[in-house]
Amino acid sequence: MTLDELVSYAKRYGFVFPGSEIYGGLANAWDLGPLGALLAENIKKAWFKKFVDESKYNVRLDSPIILNSRVWEASGHLSSFNDPKVDCKYCHNRERADKLVEKASNGEVDADGMKLEEIDEWIKSHDVKCPVCGKSEWTPCRTFSLMYKTSQGVVEDSQSTVYLRPETCQGIYIDFKNIQRAMRLKLPFGVGQCGKAFRNEITPGNFLFRVREFEQLEMEFFCKPGTEEEWFEYYKAFCENFLTSLGISKDNLKLYDHPKEKLAFYSKGTTDILFKFPWGFDELWGIASRTNYDLSKHMEFSGESLEYLDPETNEKYIPYVVEPSVGVGRMFLAFLLNNYEMETLENGDTREVLHIHPYLAPYKAVVLPLIKKAHSEKATEIYEMLSKEFIVSYDDTQAIGKRYRRADAIGTPYGITIDDDTLSNGTVTVRNRDTMTQDIVKVEDLKDYLRERTSF
Ligand code: ATP
Repeated sequence: MTLDELVSYAKRYGFVFPGSEIYGGLANAWDLGPLGALLAENIKKAWFKKFVDESKYNVRLDSPIILNSRVWEASGHLSSFNDPKVDCKYCHNRERADKLVEKASNGEVDADGMKLEEIDEWIKSHDVKCPVCGKSEWTPCRTFSLMYKTSQGVVEDSQSTVYLRPETCQGIYIDFKNIQRAMRLKLPFGVGQCGKAFRNEITPGNFLFRVREFEQLEMEFFCKPGTEEEWFEYYKAFCENFLTSLGISKDNLKLYDHPKEKLAFYSKGTTDILFKFPWGFDELWGIASRTNYDLSKHMEFSGESLEYLDPETNEKYIPYVVEPSVGVGRMFLAFLLNNYEMETLENGDTREVLHIHPYLAPYKAVVLPLIKKAHSEKATEIYEMLSKEFIVSYDDTQAIGKRYRRADAIGTPYGITIDDDTLSNGTVTVRNRDTMTQDIVKVEDLKDYLRERTSF
């Protein structure tokens, strides 16, 4: 599936619409439509289930988007959450300079961490052209802050300057002590959070892949210094397993270990899980071993101790952190790309089908009265029964074959047909999206049938 095909599929079926469309749109802003909102919610539910609820070590947090601005001083975001940019002198197109170099070198040069002068030099010596107008006259490379600035309160002065968080994890660090005390937690333990993050990206694009407002799922796993390597390995495998157990093919994934010499001084390792997007393998999930850097910085700036008193050894230390961090939108793209198929059937017909894991499917089943007049009443009764526990849809328009196809295209795993047999002996026909085989199921067993087949 190409990116254009994906964008059009997502719009056609109500997964994603262009943001502010009736006003001519807003660059790179997207709305999650009725099905997209359900898919995103299911992705988040799956993540919380596996990362928090099924782990005896982990808890959740919901911290605000706007934090005390000192947080961003301490974290270094105010001084260094920048990307290098160059502007085309001719058409004023702005490009993220490191990405421009990477693209111009066909991915051979990793410009991440290159000095501004080195980028300038590379762009000049390779005569890199502006992708918009084709000229090669660039302004010198400068840094550009990705932080969204706004003000809080009624007076617009520097006192009231606040920032929209560019990542969710800082909210977890600053609550470390509260969480540990209130929940009486012993190391190791993790704190998982989902929420919006904002980055004024220089070159957003590739649909939901790089946007300025997005949702992150982040886990900060606090552990005893010396055990971080073990937990880093654990979470790398855990994240990969999360994806494959939800149906992502191993062939679509690759691990990329950041070279040691490119790591920040405090980092013990970063591995990205890359997914095969239409433009090539690119970052889906970042897993980082961050030592005690973040907690130490917040200790230094706040003056509050964020040390942990180990009850077993009576030692005091600042915990180390392992952080798996992923964007909901990037996972959303991965699940659609991995599972979409234009399938050719034995009789030569084609059908669009989204083979998505039933747990993630927006609707778990569609209720289909075979003949509207004769079967609607019973079908409505069954819909009402099922919708108390599952998200299901109801479709009584057009021929049954067409209704099956519509459900296949949006990934609904089960089609439940209500016909004369339902009225006479209380059974329904349940059609499987992937195999197209049918089961006869008693109405009273339907909930169990769906529960067993849509869990994760
Ligand atoms: P990139 O190198 O692609 O800019 P990053 O390494 O800066 O990403 P992190 O800061 O590690 O990303 O953020 C963690 C995760 O958040 C990423 O792996 C990605 O899934 C998601 N993410 C980051 N930036 C964006 C964005 N602009 N739009 C959508 N998702 C994003």
